[in-house]
Amino acid sequence: MGIKFCEWCGREFVPNKYSSTTQRYCTADCLNAARNKQEKVERKCIVCGKSFLGKPKRKFCSKECRARKQEQKNKNLDRELEPDTPYLCQKWRQEGESIKKIASTLSRSEKSVKKALAVKLTRVQLRTMEEYFIPCTNTPSRRSRPATTDLLEEQITGSTKG
Ligand SMILES: [Zn+2]
Ligand SMILES: [Zn+2]
Repeated sequence: MGIKFCEWCGREFVPNKYSSTTQRYCTADCLNAARNKQEKVERKCIVCGKSFLGKPKRKFCSKECRARKQEQKNKNLDRELEPDTPYLCQKWRQEGESIKKIASTLSRSEKSVKKALAVKLTRVQLRTMEEYFIPCTNTPSRRSRPATTDLLEEQITGSTKG
């Protein structure tokens, strides 16, 4: 394992044996210094609109603005349930949608969808759900015996009668 030269301070160092091929700087300090030296451009903070100097991909002027954005996002995803959110979530869930899919459809967090799934629906809502139930698979919607058996029996009795 050879000795390398730090690309920041030029000092000789023995690379950590696990990262001997990738290690370019002698210490974390040199790595950080090199990173910070990266070209900075004038950016506009997407939260407060202030101009600042930062790396080309930077979106926020400060940690505070970054936190504020994240907070807004979380708040939005975890916002209060609408009156029909539990109904919608439970209906789609019955139809076989994944929680993830429902969450993205409603622009909510999965946590928020799970909360909606735990809400007890009113009798009216449950009845509406049954009426509008759209099975996405071939599984029978009623818990009684499968409809196909009924159909078969009908066909058989019908043909013997006729
Ligand atoms: Zn160094
Ligand atoms: Zn800002």
